[in-house]
Amino acid sequence: MRIGLGYDVHKLVKGRKLILGGVTIPHKKGLLGHSDADVLLHALCDSILGAAGLRDIGYYFSNKDSRWKNISSLVLLAECMKLIKKQKLKVGNVDITVILEEPKISPYIDQMKKNIAKTLSIRPSQISIKSTTAEGLGFIGKKQGCSAYAISLLK
Ligand code: ZN
Repeated sequence: MRIGLGYDVHKLVKGRKLILGGVTIPHKKGLLGHSDADVLLHALCDSILGAAGLRDIGYYFSNKDSRWKNISSLVLLAECMKLIKKQKLKVGNVDITVILEEPKISPYIDQMKKNIAKTLSIRPSQISIKSTTAEGLGFIGKKQGCSAYAISLLK
């Protein structure tokens, strides 16, 4: 078994869609980035790459490469799966924590789990997605950004 950790942060700005776990969540701000800036999936990608002993997401999907411009991060997650399949690895389980002040994401978690389960060829029961706020502290508390941590077990 192999274990990997991922962390990511993106700025919250007006004029962008808020996409987390491949789900578009109605909100007045969205995450800024080269791709769809899905911070949850980026942390997940990094944890999977890390468990496989590979490099970080920016190494494989450069923000200077027009192929990844505004792309769904589910596509990037699928690309990470291809990389670990080459090493004959499969996902055992993943655990993700998203930290953002608003909006509440709990109504969307089931759909996020379905999206991730399909992309990783696992069952939703092998995925945990949790969310918390920063209690008003720091850049997350001031609603300027959103961060995510993920841990993945591969076997
Ligand atoms: Zn990112």
